[in-house]
Amino acid sequence: MAVPKRKTSPSKRGMRRSHDSLSVEAFNECSNCGELKRPHHLCTACGHYNGREVIAAEG
Ligand SMILES: [Zn+2]
Repeated sequence: MAVPKRKTSPSKRGMRRSHDSLSVEAFNECSNCGELKRPHHLCTACGHYNGREVIAAEG
């Protein structure tokens, strides 16, 4: 069975893990209500997308 020749040093382990962190999700302001929404997604506050109402707003 193939076995690593050397123990991974803290430096090498850190280099490998440098890509592991999660990035912050992007947010845009809704052009209709100004609420924060995800780009290219329906606004959850007012149900608008691309300048028109797609679903009825909740409440
Ligand atoms: Zn909105």
